[in-house]
Amino acid sequence: MSEPKKKKTIKRIIIDVDKCNGCQGCEVICSAFHATPQYSSNNPERSRIRVIRDPLADIYIPVYAGEYTAAECAGRDKYMIDGKEYEECAFCRASCPSRDAFKEPDSGLPLKCDMCESDPTLDEPMCVQWCLAGALVFDVREEEVEEEEQEPEELDLGIEALANRHGWETVLAAVSRLSKKDD
Ligand code: SF4
Ligand code: SF4
Repeated sequence: MSEPKKKKTIKRIIIDVDKCNGCQGCEVICSAFHATPQYSSNNPERSRIRVIRDPLADIYIPVYAGEYTAAECAGRDKYMIDGKEYEECAFCRASCPSRDAFKEPDSGLPLKCDMCESDPTLDEPMCVQWCLAGALVFDVREEEVEEEEQEPEELDLGIEALANRHGWETVLAAVSRLSKKDD
């Protein structure tokens, strides 16, 4: 008899690009929420959400920071929206060696959306709360999944690649800074 599957909570933010007006409120609050001390500064460069903006065409597209990748991918995507051509990689969520997006400006270390994990847990992530246009909608659901196996080799490889690039001292200082939420 097979093992009962585990329940996993899936958190999503549904993005309605038609409602986004490019105000950058999400970028401001994300960077402030994750600043150390919390709310001590705001800088969209440190935000885990970035809004691709083309005011002349009235196009605004929020993109969330996803996983760190040690190597850039071999292929590229080309997006055309309303006749405007966007640069390759513009909508990619990865923190990747090929570009500056989703990296801490000072250290170059990767940024990733953590859904504003905090204690106590927020009812909704900060960017959703601050999006007065209603372009970001928080959605939570339970899904049945197979038991997950931790893959230490991949984690080790990622951290080692960062350390080779920035040095262990910088990596450890940044990890400690990024994991602090309440001071
Ligand atoms: S806060 Fe909402 S409307 Fe403003 S830029 Fe972000 S997603 Fe767009
Ligand atoms: S969910 Fe939180 S961490 Fe993720 S982009 Fe929004 S404010 Fe930033």
